[in-house]
Amino acid sequence: MGPADAGQAQAPGGAGAHGAGRRRPASDTALAAHAAELSSKYLGGRSIPTSVRWVSNQKSRWGSATPADGTIRLSDKLQPMPQWVIDYVLLHELAHLLVAGHNAAFWRLLEAYPETQRAKAFLEGVAFATSRGLAG
Ligand SMILES: [Zn+2]
Repeated sequence: MGPADAGQAQAPGGAGAHGAGRRRPASDTALAAHAAELSSKYLGGRSIPTSVRWVSNQKSRWGSATPADGTIRLSDKLQPMPQWVIDYVLLHELAHLLVAGHNAAFWRLLEAYPETQRAKAFLEGVAFATSRGLAG
């Protein structure tokens, strides 16, 4: 809904400020390449996003897809989560470029990914903990 961020600089990521831990190649380029891999592996390469990027302004959703222009955005809140959870969200948004709603045809697209149910439960747990103030 906010197209005003075209050309917005990527969050600097702190250039190695506090060392160890969860360093993930968080660049949009890596993310786009990974999306292409997932699409090819699980969706027969049929989902071809025009852009895939991390966003930090995503309040309530883990990801979003806009079929009209083929763009996908993932919340950077996902970055510290396990890769199989990130992959699920990315695959979910890739599938939305093919099927808009959450109907049977949509979920059928995600059946090939083995961690779908587990990732959904993981994210529900995170949302629950966050809403109850249990996190952090
Ligand atoms: Zn969805």
